[in-house]
Parts: sequence; C-alpha cells; structure tokens
Amino acid sequence: MRPALKAGLLPLWRDRDTLQLGVDPRRAVALAGLGKAAAVISLLDGSRDRGAVIGTAQAYGVPAEAADRVLALLAAAGVLDDFPARLRASLPDPLRARLAPELATAALAYGDGDGGARTLARRRAAFIRVHGAGRTGACVASFLAASGIGHVACADPEPAEPADLAPAGLIHADLGAPRQDGAARAVRRAAPEVRTRDDGALPDLVILTAPTLPDLTGALVRDRVAHLAVRADEAIGVVGPLVRPASTACLRCVDLRKAEGDPAWPKILAQATFAHARPQACDTVLAAMTAALASAQALAFIDRAWASPVTANGTLEVALPDWQWRRRTWLPHPACGCGAATAAAAPA
Ligand SMILES: [Zn+2]
Repeated sequence: MRPALKAGLLPLWRDRDTLQLGVDPRRAVALAGLGKAAAVISLLDGSRDRGAVIGTAQAYGVPAEAADRVLALLAAAGVLDDFPARLRASLPDPLRARLAPELATAALAYGDGDGGARTLARRRAAFIRVHGAGRTGACVASFLAASGIGHVACADPEPAEPADLAPAGLIHADLGAPRQDGAARAVRRAAPEVRTRDDGALPDLVILTAPTLPDLTGALVRDRVAHLAVRADEAIGVVGPLVRPASTACLRCVDLRKAEGDPAWPKILAQATFAHARPQACDTVLAAMTAALASAQALAFIDRAWASPVTANGTLEVALPDWQWRRRTWLPHPACGCGAATAAAAPA
C-alpha cells in the first residue's frame, strides 16, 4: 500500500491539535489529538509505501506507533487512499493530469479507497453509442469522452446546420458535414485517446438524444442493450428513463402510462414521431444542462452497474423558466411486452 490523502480535500487546522480535511461539512473529517504526529500528513502523497512513511516520520521524531495510529485514524475516517501507482504508471503524463479531477471526484463521491482507479478502469472499458448528434447529443458525446469513457460513437448522418452548433459540441467548421463526423471531432478535441469508430459491436449503453423510431427501441429491448432517453425541446429538458430491458420501465411502458392519463396520447405520439418543430425550443443552456445531466446518469450506470441510477423507472425533468430538476416515477406497465412488469412483480 502507498497511502495517500484523498485528493481534493484540503488539510486545515481547527485548532493547534485538530486537523480537518476538507471544507464542506458533508465531506470534511476532523482528527483530534494528533500532536507531533501530524507531521505524518505531509508524507501522504502516494510516493512512499507504508513502511517508508513510518520510517520517514521516525526521522522527523514521530514514534512508529504514533505514525501508525495516524494512518489507522485516517483510514477509519475514509480519507486515506491506496495510491493507484500501477494505474498512474500506465497513463501518459498529460492524460494522467487531465483525468486527475475525474479520479479525485470518483474517489470522493463513491468513497472508494483506490483513488478512483476502479471507476476509471470501468469507464475506459466502456462503449457508449449516442444517437443524435445535434446540440445535445454532440455535447453528451464529448462530456463522456472527457470523463474517461474509452469508446464513444455517434449515429447521426444528417448534415449539421447552424442550429446544431453548441459549446462542447459541433462547431462552425462542421456545418454541412454529417453530424456524426462533427461529433467524432468534438470527442477527439475533448479526449484524443478515445475511440470513435462504430464497429457495430453491442454497446454497454445507448443514449437516445434524437426522436427515435419504435424499431430502434424495440431492437434495444430485444438485444437487452441498456438505453437512456434524453429530450430537450418545448423549453423542457427530460433525462430518462434509463431502461434496463426486462428489468425497468421501457419507453413503451412510459407511453402506456401516459395514455392512461390522456387517451389521445397514442395519436399525438404517432404524429410527433415523424414531425419535428423547427427551430426546436432548446436554447444553449438548456441543451448543455440536459447534456450534462444525461452524461451524469450514463456515468452512474457505467460506474456502478449494480446500483440503480435515479432515472431507472423515472425521469428527471426541468421545465423553464424555473431551472429546477424534478424526478417523476414511471413504473413498468403490465400491458407492455418488455417483461419489466413481470420481473417487478416476481418475488425477490
Ligand atoms: Zn415496457
């Protein structure tokens, strides 16, 4: 073990004897009674193994037992990482430096003691396909690439138009070219090491950012490919549901629920599948915040496949102008053939 203080937490003194790691009370941890042994803290940068930390501390006049106790206290408080030396060695310097905030955030948010190494390994092994590379889809693709996802491909052959351009997405030079090519360039600008070619393999996750035909979602359910629906128009952003086929509500389950509240919904939906408002009422900030939340849900799914992101059996929705995300629940519908309702009803 190469003990390192969790990155992203600032060491601060509450008084002469009490060290606080971190500022915000939701993250911060206070350690009292450190005395001279506090010198150990300065040695925890991951460059030494446990024996070397204790040996160096002794050279500073801190007895081995006291140094050992500090390490145990820090570990018990959840602020000591086993420095991912092997991961660090496997990444080129610029990539390591660029991913440092991703690693620090993952280690803090998930409370992992590996400096975010396992989370990054999962992301680098993942393949995500994004359908639709307009102002939301292209942003999603570049956010995911910058977050460490190893393979991000976009599917959208339509030519890019001025209304598709967005920060973190398509740029002026992409106009007229297929949106998927512009999105691949956006991905490479964000993270040159990420693969963008679509070789037809089944992805770990599909993100639907454009109106899709039932054929596509039907095939995703049949092939058991997890997918996340994303919509930003009519001055409303909707992220979800995240569909685990045959396990959580699918898009048809949601439409069956909507039809219960509005008998005309199937008729409205049938028309809206083939006709789209132009321009879409999705301004730059709505596109960016919807893309960011969609990326967060995708990462939650890739990082913790066994946990349920909040968009499983639900959606997160923002209706302008209040800019507040709210969650709506959508349970599997018994009349849908996807199998999720049966799975939900089965005894655990
Ligand atoms: Zn269903």
